[in-house]
Amino acid sequence: MIDFTSIQQMLEDSRDAGLPLWKNIQLSDCHHQDITPEASWAKMSAMLEAMTQADENYQEGDRSHSGLVGGDGGRMAAYGQGGNTLCGPLLTDVMAGALRMGECNACMKRIVAAPTAGACGVLPAVLLPCRRHFGASQEELVQALYVASGFGMVIAARASISGAEGGCQAEIGSAAAMAAPALVHLQGGAPEQMANACAMAVKNLLGLVCDPVGGLVEVPCVKRNVIGAMDAMSAAQMALAGISSQVPPDQVLDAMAEVGRSLPHTLRETGKGGLAATPFGLEYAPKE
Ligand code: SF4
Repeated sequence: MIDFTSIQQMLEDSRDAGLPLWKNIQLSDCHHQDITPEASWAKMSAMLEAMTQADENYQEGDRSHSGLVGGDGGRMAAYGQGGNTLCGPLLTDVMAGALRMGECNACMKRIVAAPTAGACGVLPAVLLPCRRHFGASQEELVQALYVASGFGMVIAARASISGAEGGCQAEIGSAAAMAAPALVHLQGGAPEQMANACAMAVKNLLGLVCDPVGGLVEVPCVKRNVIGAMDAMSAAQMALAGISSQVPPDQVLDAMAEVGRSLPHTLRETGKGGLAATPFGLEYAPKE
């Protein structure tokens, strides 16, 4: 496990060591798991492979337990094939990927819970299309996963990656905040830009509540993966453009923790508030 509890400290540590951020995160992982860099790399590569397989195993005809989820990944891909989309080829691929993975999770298929099952669509949705659109190599994508994991560990230590603890900002928000710096890495950005991308991604989803209909990780979870992925893309692009978060990144995470603690329990994965408490949502509420 990686022991960074501050983004600033994580960046300073890699600067002092004279190593790229991803490499320093990898070495920290090796230290805490007592494994070699090769073994750590093999594990992270397996993670990327599992994400790729999950994406490829998507079946448009699958439906979730409640019947509320399924087919939207296929709909988005079909819309993209029309060639005249509102958001263009890259973002359409990202949105389709997020829907596919979110649906795979809702349909109980194998996914990579990074950082959680509910938010499993964000990272693969933004990373996998980088192969096709930017020619990202396997090696670069594994490095990007290290970057994502480093930021994820700081978020987990400083705030939360659990919807039951911190609301959906802690799940979809954290996934976006991991994916944004990973994208900056893939585009050759500096560690400070990665930190800013993380902070901006969190800020954009601060306060997002966890209100799953019927207590199932289906609605609104699947579509929130799309929003998380788009948040990551926009935060990364802002950072790459030289735009930074006015509130320092570690302070943004502290605000996220504080907002999470302030949320009523009805909006923290109990399925008793927000969308779950609408007349529509109540139709799917478990019978008491
Ligand atoms: S709404 Fe709750 S269960 Fe659904 S993805 Fe967000 S945090 Fe997870």
